[in-house]
Amino acid sequence: MKRFVIAIDGPAGAGKSTVAKLTAKKLGFLYVDTGAMYRALTYKAIQKNIPFDDDTNLIEMAQNTAIELQDNQTEYKVLLDGRNVTHEIRTEEVSKGTQFIASLLPIREILWKMQRALREKHNIVMEGRDIGTKVFPDAQLKIFVDATAEERAKRRYLQLKEMGINGDIDTIEREIKERDERDRHRSISPLIKDSDAFYIDTTGITIRQVVAKIEDLYKKTAYKNKND
Ligand code: C5P
Repeated sequence: MKRFVIAIDGPAGAGKSTVAKLTAKKLGFLYVDTGAMYRALTYKAIQKNIPFDDDTNLIEMAQNTAIELQDNQTEYKVLLDGRNVTHEIRTEEVSKGTQFIASLLPIREILWKMQRALREKHNIVMEGRDIGTKVFPDAQLKIFVDATAEERAKRRYLQLKEMGINGDIDTIEREIKERDERDRHRSISPLIKDSDAFYIDTTGITIRQVVAKIEDLYKKTAYKNKND
């Protein structure tokens, strides 16, 4: 039987990570942050001084990279070629650079393969931009989380602050809008709500309410699958 996948897609700062982590913890599923994979490759390219327009070298670099996401339910670590880069990949420089990595199909294919392989052993809550549309079109439950740009900028600001990074809220909002525009309009794997995904607007509601809603949808879906 196919392992259960909850695909959570949506724009930056919509609350995906917090919601996905909590849902995974509650259900005992593996939490997978695919954005961290694109970020890790972007970070490596910056470290190795590979220009973002050098597709050949970026692709070769991706082919020779090991990315491991560790989830022990209390701590989440991103290991890049064995090195812990959990915090380094969260800078604005990396956020901006991801667009170049994310728009290269051969790189996406490498990451899709890694992402799909995780289902062989685990039930998963996977978050990103194309999980329901590309990675697992057959996911048993698809959620699209959204929030206003203002709310998302506020959340990103607080998230960065928690990590000791001080940002300017207006700059963050502008950059978040720019990044979303690019994610929504790129030709490969654009951010779109799949027709069978549930839409949840998280503006003004608590994380707890969102998680409860997903849990409820999960129970209904799991029950339906069992009886089909
Ligand atoms: O989720 P996060 O904001 O960390 O993702 C960083 C960037 O990685 C996104 O802006 C997007 O360009 C890219 N990404 C993607 N597909 C995914 C996850 C992230 O293209 N599934």
